[in-house]
Amino acid sequence: MAHRPLKFSAIAHSDEEVHLMRIVTGTISHETNVLSTIRTDLEQFRKRRLLYGEEVFDYHRGTRTPVGGLMDGCERHGFELVPTVFASATPSGRITAEAFDALLDGILEGIRGAGQVDGVALHLHGAGVSENHDDIEGHILSEVRRQIGDRPLVCTLDLHANNTRLMVESADVLIGYDTYPHVDGYERGLEAIDVLARLLDGNLKPTKAFRQPPMMPALQAQFTGRYPMSRLMEEAHRMEEAEGVETITVAAGFPWSDFEDVGLSFIVTTNNDQGLADSLAEELVELAWGMRRDFLVRPMPVKEALRKVKRSESGPFILADIGDNPGGGAPEDGTVVLKAILEEGLEGGVISVMWDPEAVEAAAGAGAGGGVSLDLGGKTDDLHGRPLRVMATVKMISDGRWIVKGPMGTGSEADMGRTAVLLVGGNEVIVTSKRLQPTDLQLYRSLGIEPTERRFIVVKSSVHYRAAHEPIAKEVIELDTPGLTSPRLAGFGFKRLRRPIFPLDLELMGITELKTMEEE
Ligand SMILES: [Zn+2]
Repeated sequence: MAHRPLKFSAIAHSDEEVHLMRIVTGTISHETNVLSTIRTDLEQFRKRRLLYGEEVFDYHRGTRTPVGGLMDGCERHGFELVPTVFASATPSGRITAEAFDALLDGILEGIRGAGQVDGVALHLHGAGVSENHDDIEGHILSEVRRQIGDRPLVCTLDLHANNTRLMVESADVLIGYDTYPHVDGYERGLEAIDVLARLLDGNLKPTKAFRQPPMMPALQAQFTGRYPMSRLMEEAHRMEEAEGVETITVAAGFPWSDFEDVGLSFIVTTNNDQGLADSLAEELVELAWGMRRDFLVRPMPVKEALRKVKRSESGPFILADIGDNPGGGAPEDGTVVLKAILEEGLEGGVISVMWDPEAVEAAAGAGAGGGVSLDLGGKTDDLHGRPLRVMATVKMISDGRWIVKGPMGTGSEADMGRTAVLLVGGNEVIVTSKRLQPTDLQLYRSLGIEPTERRFIVVKSSVHYRAAHEPIAKEVIELDTPGLTSPRLAGFGFKRLRRPIFPLDLELMGITELKTMEEE
């Protein structure tokens, strides 16, 4: 977390043998929702982003992303960075064994082929599950470790990482994001290279403490912009100021990976002081446990929220369809909120977005200005509402590509696939061919929609929408919608979590006096 000044030499000290430090990088990024019916094969990675060799740098150069940070960090230190594989898929079901093995082989072969390698700096997500490994990051890091021996290995991770002992033991230093919405990926990439430089110089002898309190917060409770997550982050940052503390990772975890290491975890890395690492990690566990009841989430019933919008003269209200967040593996074709909007006769809003490639094709067939009758959404499973029969006017068809201008992944290219804007009951429904969480206002502006002028915007997102949408919101309301990313965690029938765990085992946790939404 702490960003250290660049005061360490990168180059070998003998003038005769100036050797550019050679660092290899690779990424396999997937947040796996094992309940999703979408199988994650290589095609799913290709749909989002699958890059090899120089393509990795061509895409990330100049972007405020983790890999952009690794690139700039290496440039600052005078290190040579060697790309291998960058693979990222929209959250979905288990990664096929074939796809996972192929991607990992790509990284391992890349390291072998890079000649004399001085260190490795990976960017992984931390909540990936494949058909053959529950803990893909532990497997990746341990395989890389096997290949590079005792040379430095650092890795940046998402805030949703379900960290494991194998991950902590395999890498020298793990560095997780500090933010959700994730707006510090670039800074963590820079930090990883600073840490790597200290390892290469012999100035850092990492001693680590890893703790997993029995807590599994819902996504909405992981928002770092408000209590209680903000409190945990502040405390971790305060601790990092102390002498001998290198970096602290607070990871909130991802429940839908459904295995024993799911949930909140802390990794405290100190410089050659195991006792200090242990005692700080214990303090964080105690702090989190003491705040556990504040990690419960209470969203608003959909109709109540819509009536509130109706009563108001101004907007935009940002209505978060938190149950249908593709960023957590939900399909993004849920119809529950749109159906309620039409029933209420509410107009002047935007639905951001509805994933329905069939509907896009039908709209494209009718062309801009044309009318279509179609069954919209609700096609992936039966958890997110049924297909909705609508009469729509096609407002426009777009290629669905635009450049991110907001704080999340600034400068990178977003790709929603062919996209249609449909007018349905006086509302604009953005229908896409690819699943993409609405995290940036450019999404609207690329389609000629000025978001600040709309009465309300329904975003299919748990927390990430906040970074760009909060600044323009009259009010943000979390809707109590059904779906694969609902905070009603007890309803999912998770089978392989470690138990007891909050918030599923309340009696065991001494929270008997509190009636929660899980029981309502
Ligand atoms: Zn995340």
